[in-house]
Amino acid sequence: NDRLHLQLQITRYGNGEQLMLVRDVTHVRQLEQMRKDFVANVSHELRTPLTVIAGYLEPLLDNADEVNPRWRRPLQQMQQQAERMKHLLDDLLLLARLEASDSLQASQPVAVAPLLQAIVKDAQALSGTNDHRILLDAEPHLVLKGNEAELSSAFSNLVFNAVKYTPAGGEIRIRWWGDRDGAHLSVQDTGIGIESRHLTRLTERFYRVDASRSASTGGTGLGLAIVKHALIHHNGRLEIASEPGKGSLFTCHFPPSQLATRQALGNAS
Ligand code: ADP
Repeated sequence: NDRLHLQLQITRYGNGEQLMLVRDVTHVRQLEQMRKDFVANVSHELRTPLTVIAGYLEPLLDNADEVNPRWRRPLQQMQQQAERMKHLLDDLLLLARLEASDSLQASQPVAVAPLLQAIVKDAQALSGTNDHRILLDAEPHLVLKGNEAELSSAFSNLVFNAVKYTPAGGEIRIRWWGDRDGAHLSVQDTGIGIESRHLTRLTERFYRVDASRSASTGGTGLGLAIVKHALIHHNGRLEIASEPGKGSLFTCHFPPSQLATRQALGNAS
């Protein structure tokens, strides 16, 4: 915290002269850090009372016969909202952890194909009776260097979004492949799509195209911010293409340097 942060800007003019501007941004960085610490601390502190509330609600709902019928629905609503708040706090804490540093502290070989298989299973459960067709095409031996939990959060956010924003019966295609540019994961849906004016802002915290819709789907508005920061940790980037009414395509690109060999995975396990 006692580090000095300087921003350097060099302008070169046609006549060969240069203007060098050094700006002290220490205070701006410190304020940013205070905001992040505050969010992380508040999220952490709110978890305990929430766990207590949820703990009291659970036995009441498990023994619903003993509860006055007039109270059953309000109690269910309270449990749902407590669950929603828990997701929000978990996402806030995860984002705070991801934002704490621009790179990974430790890196392991991560087998992406099995990770995606597990995510597809959860996505099928989320889809439930909406019967989305979820297709997975993943190169089995393509292994990334990174943090499995972070990659899993990022990929599941993309796949769960595809399910949430695609009407019943739609199709979700997940591909994981490698080429000379590196490795790529794409999630394509036939859902509601996104107007182009929103695309550049989607990865901002709490940015939502339609707040009421996203509240009803149980979103926290933090999913794509989490994806963005998890990708930064893995030297990756997110590309978004979408057409309203047709669907969306979210692609994560990783450079060749982020790939691990299958051999490395064998050694680690
Ligand atoms: P949320 O929790 O609201 O889903 P996200 O950060 O994951 O938050 O996404 C931000 C917004 O981007 C969403 O509220 C939604 O409007 C839009 N969005 C994300 N994924 C999709 C998708 N596959 N199809 C259409 N809209 C999407």
